[in-house]
Amino acid sequence: MPTAPKPHRRNVPAPKPQARRRTPAQDGYDRRWASFSAQWIQEQFAAGNYRCAACGKILDGGRSGIHVDHKRPHNGPTDPLFFDEDNLQMLHPSCHSRKTAKTDGGFGNGKRG
Ligand SMILES: [Zn+2]
Repeated sequence: MPTAPKPHRRNVPAPKPQARRRTPAQDGYDRRWASFSAQWIQEQFAAGNYRCAACGKILDGGRSGIHVDHKRPHNGPTDPLFFDEDNLQMLHPSCHSRKTAKTDGGFGNGKRG
């Protein structure tokens, strides 16, 4: 009994989903974190702290040019370290990505942006 030739299949990689999957908890975290970090930045500026913790240069890019980073790794919003103001530092976005490239933030969401 002849065997039919196997259909040639091209190995097409599955398209990556564009939309980030979000859980309600994640959504709440994002909003809570957004307002928390924005307020924290304001407090830092009010206190005269406006330098990048990595390179020491002044953060003059406005709020969008500032990333709030966790000094010590945390396990997500339920971790006390997450909303611990002593665990925060301000970084340039570029300095931040350089840091996270070396030490993965460990939040388990994969890469952002
Ligand atoms: Zn910097």
